[in-house]
Amino acid sequence: MEDTKALIEKGAELIKSSSKILVFTGAGISTESGIPDFRSPGGLWSKYDPSDFYFQKIISDPDIRKKYWKMSSETYRVMKAAKPNPAHKAIKKLEEAGKLLAIVTQNIDRLHHRAGNSEEKIIEIHGTAFSASCLSCGKKFDRDELEERILKENLEDPRCDSCGGIIKPDTVSFGQPIPQEKLEASFRFASICDLCLVLGSSLVVYPAASIPERALDSGSKLIIINRDPTHLDKMADVVIHGSLSKILPEMVHLALEG
Ligand code: NAD
Repeated sequence: MEDTKALIEKGAELIKSSSKILVFTGAGISTESGIPDFRSPGGLWSKYDPSDFYFQKIISDPDIRKKYWKMSSETYRVMKAAKPNPAHKAIKKLEEAGKLLAIVTQNIDRLHHRAGNSEEKIIEIHGTAFSASCLSCGKKFDRDELEERILKENLEDPRCDSCGGIIKPDTVSFGQPIPQEKLEASFRFASICDLCLVLGSSLVVYPAASIPERALDSGSKLIIINRDPTHLDKMADVVIHGSLSKILPEMVHLALEG
């Protein structure tokens, strides 16, 4: 088995020879910013029951909705306080070097924006925690203002102040479709990239996980950096199991300046 140093060098060579890199990120890129992922030990699913948070249950069951809002407000506070880590900053360097085609992120924490990547390069396929909407009239709510109201009025199930409808953060829950235009743009980028970097994703959530699969099918090279193995490891050109905030900056530095 190749050692980590050799794999980082191999990854750096691939970055060096690529000009259209598609970065695909999951919750694992943000754990070192203090935001727990879903599936790791100590992750959100060790604290909450994922089957409670299906869209249909959220909209139909007031008790589930109260649980959902408790989890959502708690994680939002953590996300808001979090800062981009060296892995997010390394992706910003790829954009500065003119090599970044797009970032397709499953994350809802806006850390790619806060690391300085341009808005137009980022596709948040699972939406964002930083705003919310009324499911009846579509009214938009700034998340900070909404959270302030929730705290001040001690709300367990906040309602739209215009029509009384159910409010939900602008995130894509299980059972809720990804907006078509975001999915299409992601597949378009996956079809034309020359390198796909999969960073911190278990690749078990579909249809998101089919984006790197499309890149592979279209002839792209594939690098996976993830603490745990994924089903695409056997197809990848480089696989490194380890800490993203250590491995990715080193690989990008070698590629751009080494
Ligand atoms: P996941 O929890 O299924 O997988 C995360 C993966 O990251 C794991 O395989 C783990 O081994 C790896 N990982 C964790 N920390 C790492 C580190 N420091 N370095 C390298 N690898 C690390 O997450 P997923 O694949 O993104 O899919 C689940 C869903 O989680 C997504 O839909 C996303 O919307 C949601 N989510 C997002 C956030 C966020 O915005 N930060 C947080 C929790 C969950």
